[in-house]
Amino acid sequence: MEGCEDCLAAGGRWVHLRLCLGCGKVACCDSSPAKHASKHFVDEGHPVIRSFEPGETWRWCFEDNTIV
Ligand SMILES: [Zn+2]
Ligand SMILES: [Zn+2]
Repeated sequence: MEGCEDCLAAGGRWVHLRLCLGCGKVACCDSSPAKHASKHFVDEGHPVIRSFEPGETWRWCFEDNTIV
């Protein structure tokens, strides 16, 4: 699926997409209104995401608040 699952379910919109490396869930970034990637970390405790944007390969750890 090419989009934030939770935004699609709610009919919302997102800015950029992130991929959870803990479970493979696609969620939206902190620039998006719903911030589902951050919410996913709070809800599920999966700390590491990576960018799901074309050409971007960086990872982010919510626990350390740093690029990993
Ligand atoms: Zn979202
Ligand atoms: Zn996850």
